[in-house]
Amino acid sequence: MKYIFVTGGVVSSLGKGLTAAALGTLLENRGVKVTLQKFDPYLNVDPGTMSPYQHGEVYVLNDGAETDLDLGHYERFTNTKLTRFNNLTSGQVYQTVLDKERRGDYLGKTVQVIPHVTDEIQNRIHQIGELTKPDVIITEIGGTTGDIEGLPFLEAIREFALDVGYTNAIFVHVTFVPFIKAAGELKSKPTQQSVAKLREIGIAPHILVCRCEQSLTKELRQKISLFCNVPFEAVIEEKDVEHSIYEVPLMLQRERLDDLVCRLLHLDVPPANMSHWQDIIRKLIAPQHRVRIGVVGKYIGLNDAYKSVYEAISHGGIANDCGVEIEKVEAEEIEKYGAEKILKGLAGILVPGGFGERGIEGKVQAAQFARERKIPYLGLCLGMQVASIEFARHVLKLEGAHSTEFDPNTPHPVIALLDEQKKVTQKGGTMRLGAQPCQLIVGSKAAHLFGAFVINERHRHRYEFNNAYREQFEQAGLKFSGTSPDGKLVEVIELKDHPFFMASQFHPEFQSKPSAPHPLFKGFIAACHQYIHHKPL
Ligand code: GLN
Repeated sequence: MKYIFVTGGVVSSLGKGLTAAALGTLLENRGVKVTLQKFDPYLNVDPGTMSPYQHGEVYVLNDGAETDLDLGHYERFTNTKLTRFNNLTSGQVYQTVLDKERRGDYLGKTVQVIPHVTDEIQNRIHQIGELTKPDVIITEIGGTTGDIEGLPFLEAIREFALDVGYTNAIFVHVTFVPFIKAAGELKSKPTQQSVAKLREIGIAPHILVCRCEQSLTKELRQKISLFCNVPFEAVIEEKDVEHSIYEVPLMLQRERLDDLVCRLLHLDVPPANMSHWQDIIRKLIAPQHRVRIGVVGKYIGLNDAYKSVYEAISHGGIANDCGVEIEKVEAEEIEKYGAEKILKGLAGILVPGGFGERGIEGKVQAAQFARERKIPYLGLCLGMQVASIEFARHVLKLEGAHSTEFDPNTPHPVIALLDEQKKVTQKGGTMRLGAQPCQLIVGSKAAHLFGAFVINERHRHRYEFNNAYREQFEQAGLKFSGTSPDGKLVEVIELKDHPFFMASQFHPEFQSKPSAPHPLFKGFIAACHQYIHHKPL
């Protein structure tokens, strides 16, 4: 087995995860079986309890693990199947070590960062190897070189590489080469210092991936090579992409990153055939059609908060050869100025998942606007719940209808706590999580879009549709087109008298890929396109 360790230098938010994922794409397309794993140095056990302001989106895996959003990149860029073992945090490491200590596994010893914490980190690399039996494991270390909390992880991978030998393990350092406008120059000093930091602790990177706004000159590459002790050909340029993150694999292929990696790891494999990927890029860059849709949320200023949603929308665009411009709408703006003013002219409206009361009325108004004006609507998790609340209030005339999450004393709790949630007291990892089967109704639009009657989709919620109201809703024209196989939990709703009004309790965005756009997003964008061009459905 071969190992690639990806570290980051100079600043955070460099796109290390994307770089790791893109390298995964290239290796997979050379016939190499890869898996990817992320180490996060923070002390939370998982990101599930963190605010999007701290962490961006929480990405959910099939097995219900709440993970870092980089795992979303890994799944979108490769075919690897990820589980909770693919994301390790310091919190998990210390929890395991302390459990062992209490059990007496270390009896007689002083428990220390080296070797006990570092061993635990290394165990996780072996564990992934045994579980998934890949040819190559790409392990990304979160944070920036020089962070105190990242040190045990760097020490662990240093030891690991020494153990398996340098033909089996390489270090790729993703760094930043800033362009200083006033000087009109790209600067290599931060990269030199960040590499020096790594070498101080015994890691000499084999490859430097240089993130930059402007192309590196030959002289600069030579300088970086000389000062950072890497061969000239191992100074790889990764310029900001122009159109889409899906260009990154092609860009890195042009820089021959995958060739170099294969050479260093003695992987004798053919070049990557990226023609299908080129086709995806073509559809993103020069689509035949265009639409503009609105995403109504509460963390709109923060791109990472709805990462998978935005990605899945672009996949829906790819499936329809349609460029999608996303109007990011702050739900509170709708409360202030009204739906008409804010949402007019859009080809579709999407309300993603969310927690907490802020902006909720704006989302309800967005659903109402979409229903009444017959604008395509896609609701995801909370987006299904607000659509139900809206329908209850304005079609069924159930005044004050709400979710008990936001109004515990509502006279009409159309959304209420799941039974299994009633006894839950701890917050971490206790929602209804992960892939669950859903049965679709024959003849429904949902079944038509999926082309299947049983689907498996990922969840992350505590509240559900209250079955006491099902009959009333149905009689008024709302179809429960998907439920859990026992029929008890509502999973998908759709409106009969509407070109496309569809919402799911699950999160379809977590299973969409550019190479396999999710049926709900594909159907939604198709409906948006038809709506805006006034074609009958
Ligand atoms: N807050 C809602 C719930 O817990 C919706 C969750 C979500 O959108 N992920 O049920």
